[in-house]
Amino acid sequence: MGSFGDKPHAVFVPYPTQGHINPLLQLAELLHYRGFHITFVNTEINHGRVLKCSGLSTVDRFSDFRFETIPDGLPMSSTRDVPTLCESTSKLCLEPFRKLLAKLNDSAVSNVPRVTSIIFDVPMSFCLTAAEELGVPSVCVWTASVCGFMAYLQYPQLDERGLTVAKGVNYMSDKYKHTPIDWIPGMKDIRLKDMINFDRLGDTRDFMIKFTYEQAKRCFNASAIVFNTFEAFEHDVLEALKPQLPAIYTMGPLHLLCQNVIKDGSNLVDSNLWKQDEACIDWLDSKEPNSVIYVNFGSITVMSPESLTEFAWGLANSNQYFLWIIRPDLVGKDTEVLPLEFLMETKERGLMVSWCSQEEVLNHSSVGGFLSHTGWNSTIESVCGGVPMICWPLFAEQKMNCRFVCTTWGMGLEMETEVKREEVERLVREMLKGEKGKEMKKRALEWKKAAEEANSPGGSSVLALQKLHREVLLSNR
Ligand code: UDP
Repeated sequence: MGSFGDKPHAVFVPYPTQGHINPLLQLAELLHYRGFHITFVNTEINHGRVLKCSGLSTVDRFSDFRFETIPDGLPMSSTRDVPTLCESTSKLCLEPFRKLLAKLNDSAVSNVPRVTSIIFDVPMSFCLTAAEELGVPSVCVWTASVCGFMAYLQYPQLDERGLTVAKGVNYMSDKYKHTPIDWIPGMKDIRLKDMINFDRLGDTRDFMIKFTYEQAKRCFNASAIVFNTFEAFEHDVLEALKPQLPAIYTMGPLHLLCQNVIKDGSNLVDSNLWKQDEACIDWLDSKEPNSVIYVNFGSITVMSPESLTEFAWGLANSNQYFLWIIRPDLVGKDTEVLPLEFLMETKERGLMVSWCSQEEVLNHSSVGGFLSHTGWNSTIESVCGGVPMICWPLFAEQKMNCRFVCTTWGMGLEMETEVKREEVERLVREMLKGEKGKEMKKRALEWKKAAEEANSPGGSSVLALQKLHREVLLSNR
């Protein structure tokens, strides 16, 4: 074991997209700070992207925080959409992961402490098998909302009541969208259109809903489950879940917990899959407080050129400042779809870049609203910035997040799925200039305060981290 002494060693395995890598990396940072040796396992292709973005030859920042890789099971040239990745990782990653664990535990080849726990993302539940084989605690991390988790668990009830896609029901149709879903404990005023939805994934939608349901159920067998949220934010649904799932550790927003606990942010590891544009912060510096709408649809959303054009004209016609992040693959491969007229008309008012430091943007005083797909990280990052949201949810549990943002948390306005420039224009104006926008800003600031409390000394998220360390991660030592 050499110089590592008796350190606990946690191996982290995220699902290979940005919205999953970020929270697992944040939890890894927290445990590293608490004295753990960390091995963080990225897929080979993502590791290559991280290195390219960082411009470094290695991202191993410390001798006791190291990156390793496993293949995701797909040829390098293959497209990596969500269903394809779920299928390949669940079928093909266990074997290379076993080999990696054997290498880490072989003192003849690896100068690291023996692996003492495996911390994995729910869709990577093959890790549970590996942890059982090794006889170490397994902690699964649910990187989305608890309300979303609860919604996934409803699949059998929906099926029994004939309310699934497999039974011919379209959640967004006029006939069904307002069907009340009134049996879920801890949740009120839910409609069928707010439930888990993979419709936009076409033929694979059925596979995805069953896959995620099964993965979530499998995690009931883990030693613990970590939710990236805070008690006060999802109180009722957490209380409803606890009797079914006792080993819950509610510790989030993890990025805030990291900032508060670790303090020296300069040491944090960066794992961006796209290169960040730094200039947008200078641009924001030049604007008045609360005057800019920030538009970003996360790391995996893809939209049609028609939707992009509607967003563009909606933003232009709102006459407000906007910062719009357009990933190179946001509209398939075709990046040149924005009308020249739009570019000319908005050159004084709009800035478009391909990737940014979202946390920094959402904490900038010029940002007055966030037009978002309501991915969970984006939602909690918005809460931490005290920024109200315009919600354009697309798939998975994003519609449930949107429902909670707009009702329970009172800090958002919901947009229709079909993008119309008039609606975009109206909502952006309402958010930045209207009475409703002011009310939502107030609520967003209240939630920001509650998030800060949960992540301050003695707060619920800080205590949950200490408990996880003590009760689970050191339990076999
Ligand atoms: N993100 C970022 N810069 C961008 C876009 C996204 O840093 O320009 C980060 C964002 O801060 C968040 C993650 O990528 O942590 C996206 O996760 P989310 O759950 O919101 O959505 P997903 O990408 O999984 O759909």
